[in-house]
Amino acid sequence: MKGKCTRGFGKVEDPQTGETINVESEFEVSKAVFDRLQDAYPGFEAVSSDETSDTNQTETETFRCGVEKSDGTPCSREVEEPEERCWQHQPKD
Ligand SMILES: [Zn+2]
Repeated sequence: MKGKCTRGFGKVEDPQTGETINVESEFEVSKAVFDRLQDAYPGFEAVSSDETSDTNQTETETFRCGVEKSDGTPCSREVEEPEERCWQHQPKD
C-alpha cells in the first residue's frame, strides 16, 4: 500500500525491523509496516491509489486578447479562445 507522512520526517525507522524508510514523498510499504509506522509516529496517512480527484482538476486557461494598444502594451482583456479578440479589437474587414 501507499502511505505518506504529513510531518516532514524525511526518513523514519520501522520500529520492529529497524529498517530505514524514506517517507519524504509518498512511499510504498506493506500494510503491516504502515500500521507500525502509524502507531509509532504522528502524521502518517494512507494514500488511496484510486483517489485521483485532487490531481484531476481541469486547469482553466485564461486567454488574453493581446492586441497591441496605442501605447505599445498588449491588450489584457480576457477572451474565450486563444485567437479571439476582445470587443474593442475585433478585426475590421
Ligand atoms: Zn483587446
